[in-house]
Amino acid sequence: MGLLVLPTLVLGALHWRALRKNHEDALAAVPGEAADAARRLSDAISRQLDSLIEAESRRPFYEYSRNYFPPGTIGADLAFFPSPLVRDPQPEGLLGWFEFQNNFFSSQPPEIYGGMREQEPSWPAIRSDWIEATRALRKLEEREVSDPVLRFQQLRLRHGPATEQGLPYPVVAVNLSPENDVGCLRDSLAELRVLEEEAVALRTTRFHLRFFLEESRRSRAVATRMVLVPGQQMLPNMPSCFSGMRNPTYLLQGFLIDPDWLGRELPLQLAKEVLDPEQKLLFWGDDAPPQSHIVSIDLLSLLDFELPRDGDGRTFQLAIAMDRRNLDLKLRSQELHFLGVAGMLVLTLGTGLVLLLRSVNRDLEAARRTGNFVSAVTHELRTPLSAIRLHGEMLSEGWVKDEDQRREYYRRILRESTRLETLVERVLHKGQLTRNELSPEPGDLNPILESLRPTLMLSEDGGDARDLVFELESDLPAVMLHADCIRSIVINLVENARKYAPVNLNDPAGEPICVRTHRAGDDVLIDVLDRGPGIPAQERERIFEAFYRVGNESTRSTKGTGLGLHLVALQAEAMGGRVEVQERSGGGTLFRVHLRLA
Ligand code: ADP
Repeated sequence: MGLLVLPTLVLGALHWRALRKNHEDALAAVPGEAADAARRLSDAISRQLDSLIEAESRRPFYEYSRNYFPPGTIGADLAFFPSPLVRDPQPEGLLGWFEFQNNFFSSQPPEIYGGMREQEPSWPAIRSDWIEATRALRKLEEREVSDPVLRFQQLRLRHGPATEQGLPYPVVAVNLSPENDVGCLRDSLAELRVLEEEAVALRTTRFHLRFFLEESRRSRAVATRMVLVPGQQMLPNMPSCFSGMRNPTYLLQGFLIDPDWLGRELPLQLAKEVLDPEQKLLFWGDDAPPQSHIVSIDLLSLLDFELPRDGDGRTFQLAIAMDRRNLDLKLRSQELHFLGVAGMLVLTLGTGLVLLLRSVNRDLEAARRTGNFVSAVTHELRTPLSAIRLHGEMLSEGWVKDEDQRREYYRRILRESTRLETLVERVLHKGQLTRNELSPEPGDLNPILESLRPTLMLSEDGGDARDLVFELESDLPAVMLHADCIRSIVINLVENARKYAPVNLNDPAGEPICVRTHRAGDDVLIDVLDRGPGIPAQERERIFEAFYRVGNESTRSTKGTGLGLHLVALQAEAMGGRVEVQERSGGGTLFRVHLRLA
């Protein structure tokens, strides 16, 4: 058994440790995984914004206009095209565009382009809101530097290096000229055509991103770039519509980014794609789930937004929360599972152990009882045999002179040989019963008991025994029985009662042993009652086992084989009935045999 239990215990302990270790590893991996998740989300957001900026950077400067004059279209007339900034839907996340031509620091509003939104009825309100945003942007700039010249340099520096690009002179000239002067432009068509091969070197900066809060605490996200056009001396007698070209020109072009899209919609949408289920995206003000690991993302600095005041972008903080409870729950369920299996195993092993011990005990007990039986039988055989031999010798040697004594000796020899016969018969009978050689038949019970009366009621001195009474209920129905079995059962029970619960005939209150038949429900019962010491409750089951005797073999004074009640039980069963023993009310024992109705 130890061979089985020990490896199981060791394996169990190892498995338990592995469970714990895995859990600890998983917990230790949480910060790394959360950081990974934050990186994935940051990358995705950056990529998205980069592609928006990239697309806007590719937009030529002249699209910031209602109608524009594209390269390569100069012919007999000037062809103008409506700009996508007033015609097309905005790219996702972009609200609208604006452009200042040399006048960012004046109080003049910029040109505003709202794409498809210009068709909306609320367009005038939207437009003035955006103008408000550009005014706030200018104020930021002015707050930093008050000197107008330095201010421009500051703006220029903010936008970083510019890349140079050559565009045909007419394209730059036409697109920079005031739009309302088409007539003047057409008049200059011939001169322009001459200049078609001449290029103007435009310098354009990258888009610079700025985030700020307006005084009303409204969030604004703005991208601006500068387009610088050097002063041109190509047309000495330029008509009025080109007069602006003589001096250097700067364009401040830009667009407004939707702060809600940037701070909420975009992260939410990307989080769905890149985060695992146990990783949760939190926004500013969200409560972190308990027991979670948090990694925060500073969205605006991630995206290279310039913040005029440090705290302004606070509400654009994101965080990834990684829930550790799932891991705990997983561990708990694994532990439960393990304990369940372990419990089952322990139960199985335990039951096996108990069953094994029990069967070993039973075998030992059987062996012990067989040993008891052999010694009891030997004893039982030896006692009558030696009595017979002793008396026989004395008689044959002619030692007994007295006639009465001689007769007494003969009687003893007879009695002892009867005892021998009974013992041998019982052993044989037991063999017969265990081999199932008897089959019951319908019959009347009382006549069989009546036939026993003479034998049982005979006292030792030849008179009527006064320690036994019969109470037979008349008109009992027929039952399944075997006459020899009935006789044997009753004789056995009465003899036992006489042996273990003898009646004191000198006591006037002494109650005789009673043999009783009666009907109860579907059974007919034979009761044998005595007023003896009774049988201890814990022994009542066992006295019907073969060779079982109450107490210890060596200390028992009464002669017996431990076979009598066993035979009774076997016989009752052979007739389809059973036997039980009860405590008799008022003291003593009640043996009850149940017989089936025929
Ligand atoms: P035995 O040969 O020992 O009489 P039995 O099978 O007849 O064997 O009886 C088993 C045991 O039951 C006896 O040893 C005795 O202790 C107990 N016993 C049987 N009948 C009675 C009784 N009427 N009163 C008390 N004890 C009894």
